[in-house]
Amino acid sequence: MRTDRQNPSVIIIGAGMTGIQLVIKLREAGITDITVLEKKESMGGTWRENTYPGVACDVPSHAYTYSFELNPEWSNYFPGGDEIYQYFEKVFYKYGVNYCTRFNEKVTSCVFDEQTQRWTVTTEKGEVLQADLLFSATGILHEPVIPDFPGLDRFAGKMFHTARWDNDYDMGGKKVSVIGVGSSAVQLIPEIIDTPGTKVTVFQRTPQWIVSLKDRVFTEKDKERFRRQPWRMKWIRELSLFSYRQNTAALTGDSLFNKIMHRIMARIARKNLESSVRDPLLRAKLTPDYKFGCKRVVINSTFYEAIQKPNAQLVTEGIDHFTEQGIVTSDGVHHQFDVIVLATGFNPAAFMRPMTFLGREGLSINEAWERKIQAYRSICLPGFPNFFLMLGPNSPIGNYSVIEMSELQSDYAIKLVKHWQKGQINTIEASLEAMQRWCAMLKHNMKKTVWTSGCQSWYLDADGDALAWPDNWNNWVEAMREPNLNDFLAESSEAVIREEVLSDAA
Ligand SMILES: Cc1cc2nc3c(=O)[nH]c(=O)nc-3n(C[C@H](O)[C@H](O)[C@H](O)COP(=O)(O)OP(=O)(O)OC[C@H]3O[C@@H](n4cnc5c(N)ncnc54)[C@H](O)[C@@H]3O)c2cc1C
Repeated sequence: MRTDRQNPSVIIIGAGMTGIQLVIKLREAGITDITVLEKKESMGGTWRENTYPGVACDVPSHAYTYSFELNPEWSNYFPGGDEIYQYFEKVFYKYGVNYCTRFNEKVTSCVFDEQTQRWTVTTEKGEVLQADLLFSATGILHEPVIPDFPGLDRFAGKMFHTARWDNDYDMGGKKVSVIGVGSSAVQLIPEIIDTPGTKVTVFQRTPQWIVSLKDRVFTEKDKERFRRQPWRMKWIRELSLFSYRQNTAALTGDSLFNKIMHRIMARIARKNLESSVRDPLLRAKLTPDYKFGCKRVVINSTFYEAIQKPNAQLVTEGIDHFTEQGIVTSDGVHHQFDVIVLATGFNPAAFMRPMTFLGREGLSINEAWERKIQAYRSICLPGFPNFFLMLGPNSPIGNYSVIEMSELQSDYAIKLVKHWQKGQINTIEASLEAMQRWCAMLKHNMKKTVWTSGCQSWYLDADGDALAWPDNWNNWVEAMREPNLNDFLAESSEAVIREEVLSDAA
């Protein structure tokens, strides 16, 4: 069957925040033949997977909300994961996204057929579906990193990653180890320390810069005002986004403004540490030796107080190996535990993988990305026509609302679809040359970011380039505003050749 451009069939992989808003926006644009394939038994992505105690948003709630579905019911500024999950669930059913979603359908393979110009999508259960347009909305922080410490498998106690929390396990009275002090860890550690009878040992490889932001509870009166006067929510939203954008300016660019913002933010973080941690030895251990913002800034107001409690211990010696009873550190000390929590983060470079993903002429995504993970404007991949990688490489994954960036990308993708429907482009596929130009711009701007100032971080690839957007938010908005059709394939004769992509990847 050939493509009916006026009524294209769409497959979206993933029913998280991104998949949900994509369905809503595509339908608004008149595209209704949509199937969402979700590997798990419910929607919600991140907020379904991460149920550890203390999990919460670190972006103010009214800014972590779809622009088209403001929520007067948020209980506070930094709501917990449960409440965020419920918000997405409400939107999911309100907009009938459930009608086109198939749960327990893990996509294992996507193959582009040159003849029909369609994608064949296969799930783990053996279902085979076809689509004219394919969207990957599989998330950025989805594949947990399990570190390869020697002997990890030997540990005989309980062990799990923060994203695989065992809610039936009672931490009370247990000797607990938490490995890592990143964003999830600092939310979780105070909760475990406050669980009666626990003794908590935190293994820190690198200290974090932490900025403390005050939470605020919204009273019934506040909520009533939000319901009656939605402009109040919009006001808080805009104000929050504005102030978060200023913080982002501290991380990128080399203008005087960028430098001043960096200095201000660095001072705020240092003051937070100095005023929160009394013991100079502990403070020294918690003081980063790299520039503010080089690793993703942690937003938290409970960790410093918690780590000073009598049942808490911070270990900075490296982990040498695991034993049946616990962990031996590089100084030879054997730490014994009942339970070990791996707060070791996620692989941000996994994207839709592991998956068989083949574009033109059998070009696989692993081949195309062999040397470097890259995409045109984070979303289009030469050699993979009519495919959109949502929140792809170099999306602005700093400290900002991911919903904002995801919505902007959807709007951009839909504009491209409209041009394709009108026949203004042959396939929705950026040329290799356009991607190279884009990546050269990224590389140039990357040098001006604090991420490349010499620390180890999950942002960085093997070349030392960050996977994040190396510029200010306004320029991302500009990049997403209107597709430049000259960058896309106008004729089928211009099709991106496998060999070209492979030589670029070599
Ligand atoms: C602990 C934690 C806290 C966070 N806090 C914030 C925050 O405060 N502010 C913020 O802006 N962002 C935050 N984020 C980032 C967060 O991931 C995004 O805000 C947002 O949830 C991403 O939505 P998504 O739909 O793009 O991806 P996800 O929420 O990851 O959803 C992806 C979906 O795709 C499905 N999927 C994956 N592979 C397949 C497959 N092969 N087949 C079928 N389905 C598949 C998954 O099961 C999942 O449901 C946080 C992330 C984590 C992990």
